[in-house]
Amino acid sequence: MRYGIISDIHGNLEALEVVLNECRKLKIGSLLCAGDIVGYGANPKECLDIVRKLKAVIVAGNHDWAISGRLDASYFTEDGKAAIMWTRTRIALEDIAYMNDLPLCLKNKDCILVHGTLNDPSHFIYLTDISKAAATFALMDSPVCFVGHTHVPMVLIERGGNIYKHEGTELEIRPECKYIINPGSIGQPRDGNPLASFGVYDTQMQTIEIRRVLYDVQKAQRKIIEAGLPKPLALRLAQGE
Ligand code: ZN
Repeated sequence: MRYGIISDIHGNLEALEVVLNECRKLKIGSLLCAGDIVGYGANPKECLDIVRKLKAVIVAGNHDWAISGRLDASYFTEDGKAAIMWTRTRIALEDIAYMNDLPLCLKNKDCILVHGTLNDPSHFIYLTDISKAAATFALMDSPVCFVGHTHVPMVLIERGGNIYKHEGTELEIRPECKYIINPGSIGQPRDGNPLASFGVYDTQMQTIEIRRVLYDVQKAQRKIIEAGLPKPLALRLAQGE
């Protein structure tokens, strides 16, 4: 099986379409979505419809849960709150119910999927570095766990009780190790690189790769501004921050 790992789409249709096009070329058999389909971008409904139609396996992100009120808006920045209020007016009640019911964690025979961390997933902790990773590694009963939330691609490896960061975008899975992988964000990258980011997990080859793809940033920016969403949400897309 070749999985496409998508996360933090945030209503950015331009970025999602380009990534899904890449996934088709790569012969991805199944999509795993680590949360935050909506929020920030101008096309929440379209993005949600697409990932549901493609039967992606989806866990809840903080934005997805905030739409229904399951997560309190006080968790968010002012721009984040404004985006949540706006998004509520652009999606159907049925969509809100769907997002409200998204689970925090999912597991299949090949991996685990969670937006924040496996410890306390409902608090959406940012797994930003090695110091935050031990609790999640301890709870992993599968060698591979995909996370999202930080919008920064990252690969952490645990081997013999030591955790270290893997530099580089390609990785071979070894039986003596465990892996936490953040594939980065499709719709709002924050690692200084504006290209949309996603992951490819090939269970046959036992490889994981983080890939970047160019999309029409200016079009996504224009739509955010025309929608009346906060301007910084458009500006940051060009910086990837
Ligand atoms: Zn996010």
